[in-house]
Amino acid sequence: MDSKKKYTEIRDQFTNYLVEKKLRRTEERYAILDCIFQITGHFDMCMLHQRLEELGFHVSRATVYNTLDVLEDCGLILRHQFMTQAVQYELRFLAETHAHLVCSKCGTVRELKEGELKDRIRALKMGRFSPEYHALYVYGMCGKCKKRNLRK
Ligand SMILES: [Zn+2]
Ligand SMILES: [Zn+2]
Repeated sequence: MDSKKKYTEIRDQFTNYLVEKKLRRTEERYAILDCIFQITGHFDMCMLHQRLEELGFHVSRATVYNTLDVLEDCGLILRHQFMTQAVQYELRFLAETHAHLVCSKCGTVRELKEGELKDRIRALKMGRFSPEYHALYVYGMCGKCKKRNLRK
């Protein structure tokens, strides 16, 4: 799917959610969504706030927080909590296409792209369970830590 089409779909989903929940459809909320759509990886609250400032959108941190909550409830973004790092967010449709390799020693997170991940997970037999979305975390030791460990 091309990104323009995907973006329209995401925006519509957001609008429907706001209407349904009787939340205000403010310019700020859409500006935040626009900004997130352009970040194609993980981001945290500070990074997002900074980006918005750079784009000339002066929104309060409270508004950014609030909008992230709304986007999470609406199912557009996922919240990751990787060990010691600040909470990270990611567009859900993107998060579903890779595994997160988390080093339990240094906390580094690497994304392993796997084009068929989504289809493979959907192909699992889950009985009466109806899956909505998924996030995959694989914990272990990264190459650097492994090397450092061997040297000891
Ligand atoms: Zn990710
Ligand atoms: Zn490591």
